Amino acid sequence: MATQISTGTAELRDIAKMERIGAHSHIRGLGLDDRLEPRANSQGMVGQAKARKAAGMALKLVTEKHISGRAMLFAGPPSTGKTAIALGMAQTLGPDVPFTMIAASEVFSLAMSKTEALTQAFRRSIGVRIKEETEIIEGEVVEIQIDRSLTGATKTGKLTIKTTDMETIYDLGTKMIDSLTKEKILAGDVISIDKASGKVSKLGRSFARSRDYDAMGADTKFVQCPDGEIQKRKEVVHTVSLHEIDVINSRTQGFLALFAGDTGEIKPELRNQINTKVAEWREEGKAEIIPGVLFIDEVHMLDIECFSFLNRALENDLAPLVIMASNRGMARIRGTNFRSPHGLPVDLLDRVLIVSTKPYEEDDIKQIIQIRCEEEDVVLTPEALSALTVMATQTTLRYALNLISCAQVLARKRKAEKVDVEDLRRGYVYFMDEKRSVQWLKEQQGSLMF
Ligand code: ATP
Repeated sequence: MATQISTGTAELRDIAKMERIGAHSHIRGLGLDDRLEPRANSQGMVGQAKARKAAGMALKLVTEKHISGRAMLFAGPPSTGKTAIALGMAQTLGPDVPFTMIAASEVFSLAMSKTEALTQAFRRSIGVRIKEETEIIEGEVVEIQIDRSLTGATKTGKLTIKTTDMETIYDLGTKMIDSLTKEKILAGDVISIDKASGKVSKLGRSFARSRDYDAMGADTKFVQCPDGEIQKRKEVVHTVSLHEIDVINSRTQGFLALFAGDTGEIKPELRNQINTKVAEWREEGKAEIIPGVLFIDEVHMLDIECFSFLNRALENDLAPLVIMASNRGMARIRGTNFRSPHGLPVDLLDRVLIVSTKPYEEDDIKQIIQIRCEEEDVVLTPEALSALTVMATQTTLRYALNLISCAQVLARKRKAEKVDVEDLRRGYVYFMDEKRSVQWLKEQQGSLMF
């Protein structure tokens, strides 16, 4: 077991990532331009410019690998986009960088210790990019690299070609060597090969940058042997998380546990073995660590033991960027009698970059409502849009967004295509917002059970 650590990548490739739907499905990124300046309305994001820019800067540091083991806190009132921004960050990172999202309360509801739940969340957020060599399958798109120092040409360098055709691949070696020397093809040029004649033509450097060429892309490589033969192997690169490697190598769990999401506790000895193995792979150049992001929503719900774990875990070499969110002001730190900003102990607060989110202006709210209507295929009359915007300012943005689909059901009942003010008004009567709910509770005191 100790020596046979499997990456399980074959199995993992088939596990589809869960799609996030629902309240945040309109968020497609952070809506920033190349200089990380927030666009007014882009990728489903509106307003909250400062926080979005801060999020973009943090991501830049993650992708440049400067910020693993650091922590950020989004602090602001409810419905000010803390979760939306975190999800925008996830979309921006791309599929290769792990992003894990948990609500702090989940840590207490799993059938495992709190620290085990947090350890798993940490290890889910660390990617291991692994390089493996496999056989080429007939018909695959492959990239061939020929080292020109082997071709007899005066200059050395690499030439690249991508093809799906096996015969071309096998024939390529000798024909290319002949033609290359005659055609004076320079390193970086892309060439085409006529299968019938075996003629090699130069397509020039610009072709290498063209979309067609990129579209054929595959992360595979051919290596030219010194005797002119081409090896039938390719290098494949894939990324798995440390947690996935843990589960696959766990004697009691096995990779099927990943489908069920019920991975149970994993022994610390196994994790140590895996860490050692991954370190070996890194030294051999077979693997690279990709620190990702762990988002902990409602972080004030963690208790003092969890905070102390977080403090320690952030010191580890293999720590992701931890982003936390809280809508609390001064609050009691769970598990103690102390009150502290956002319910976080001061030693943790001290190491955290704090980004505040602010309540939205009316115009931002209107635009967010419009985006959600498009997302949910709902058409509001102009009067309904104005009314819902006012409702959002008087209740919360989330309440107003929830009302969209309720009002649509009511509009359909009266066979109307568009949602009008009357549908919103009726929805507002059926469903209470938080303020009215509190008021109602006060009025019911004595008749409800507590
Ligand atoms: P809480 O403190 O209650 O958890 P939050 O600050 O995490 O709130 P979100 O859940 O992100 O708030 O926002 C509420 C709703 O408004 C979500 O549907 C979210 O997608 C949307 N939303 C918030 N901010 C923006 C924004 N800047 N652009 C577009 N949609 C937004």
